[in-house]
Amino acid sequence: MRKRLSDELPVPRLGPHADRPRPYPPGHRPHLPIRPLWLCRACGLPWPCAEARLLLKVEYDNHHVDLAIYLSGLYHEATHDLFRLNPHDGPTPRELFERFVAWGPYRRPIVEPDR
Ligand SMILES: [Zn+2]
Repeated sequence: MRKRLSDELPVPRLGPHADRPRPYPPGHRPHLPIRPLWLCRACGLPWPCAEARLLLKVEYDNHHVDLAIYLSGLYHEATHDLFRLNPHDGPTPRELFERFVAWGPYRRPIVEPDR
């Protein structure tokens, strides 16, 4: 008897909940991740897809630190989920960092400029 896919997938932990970006336009399927696969519910691409990134930038506007915190929490969850799904040749932590966090608008200069 074939096992159902849901029987084979690790159960996501109760870490930060991916609830952004909100559906846009309202009523459309939101570009949120399917866990533990971390694929977009709306377009099927690795999350955050281009549409999700765009919507997140708009939603968080100039709250760059809040967006970085949100993405960092999900990066941590995704690293855990995807490693358990595929421990041998899944994406590396560096690749996931680039995908989840590094694209975000938050940047801090290495050296604070003189005031
Ligand atoms: Zn999408």
